[in-house]
Amino acid sequence: MLDGAAIARAIRTEVAEGVQRLKATGRPVPHLAAVLIGTNPASETYIAMKQRACGWVGMASSVHRLGDNATQAEAEALVARLNADPAVTGILVQHPLPKHLHEPAVLDQVSAHKDVDGISRVSLGALINGEPAFPSCTPAGILALLDRYNLPIEGKRAVVVGRSIILGKPIALMLLNRHATVTICHSRTPDLATETRQADILVAAAGRPELITGDMIKPGAVVIDAGYNRVEGRTGDVGDVHFESAARVAGWITPVPGGVGPMTIAMLLRNTLFAAEGRFP
Ligand code: NAP
Repeated sequence: MLDGAAIARAIRTEVAEGVQRLKATGRPVPHLAAVLIGTNPASETYIAMKQRACGWVGMASSVHRLGDNATQAEAEALVARLNADPAVTGILVQHPLPKHLHEPAVLDQVSAHKDVDGISRVSLGALINGEPAFPSCTPAGILALLDRYNLPIEGKRAVVVGRSIILGKPIALMLLNRHATVTICHSRTPDLATETRQADILVAAAGRPELITGDMIKPGAVVIDAGYNRVEGRTGDVGDVHFESAARVAGWITPVPGGVGPMTIAMLLRNTLFAAEGRFP
């Protein structure tokens, strides 16, 4: 089992120590400013979780809200104001934004040095070029999990199921940058099982409950389940992997919950600490 909850706790402790070091040298306390536009109960929950996590490690946080009818100019101006504020060391624009807004243009107002969520076009461009930047938090969490368990990536065959801009594409690029041979699958992939059975490292990021079953997994593979899905009639979140059948075949597997989820927030905190220190991970 890849215990994301335990690794995330260890990373949070390291981040808290880093915050204390900054304070001891008289440097500004890391401050994560979250931008929340429109009303979305899930976004409210995520923001509350992230603020709580900042508190655990001694960081400051703030939430900056705009209503459902916010204009593109208002959204961009808010982010630009936070970007110019020296007390704010990291900026997080909670997505999804209301549909009438152009999210990439809003994110373009965030300097790469404050883009602790790693999803602006500049940060993603740096990832493509293999240049330093803040990595997107969920894919960075997956990579950190592999690294902390000393699971090799170089030379391995990795298959990523999903191609979203926040998850599938960046994790595929990160694995590629670490010299895996990478296949990306999506909803038009004709025979998903044939692809997934090739994987030494399989990342499920499709948002489809229990899409990946044990018979789709190569024996001994590392299986990372990034999915969390609400399913009617079941309590808690359900991953993209059918855990019971997959665990019988996989060499390593992440549970849901307690796998990728806690790593995402740990990476956000780590990125925010690094931003306050003026460096990239
Ligand atoms: P998304 O934007 O909906 O993207 C899903 C991707 O999966 C798409 O590229 C889609 O293909 C592909 N897909 C859908 N059904 C498929 C199928 N049957 N076979 C193969 N590919 C399929 O979702 P996301 O934002 O990347 O999130 C994916 C999952 O990760 C969700 O469960 C989400 O809740 C979870 N997540 C977890 C965290 C965390 O912190 N743990 C963070 C973010 C997301 P097309 O491109 O062809 O449509």
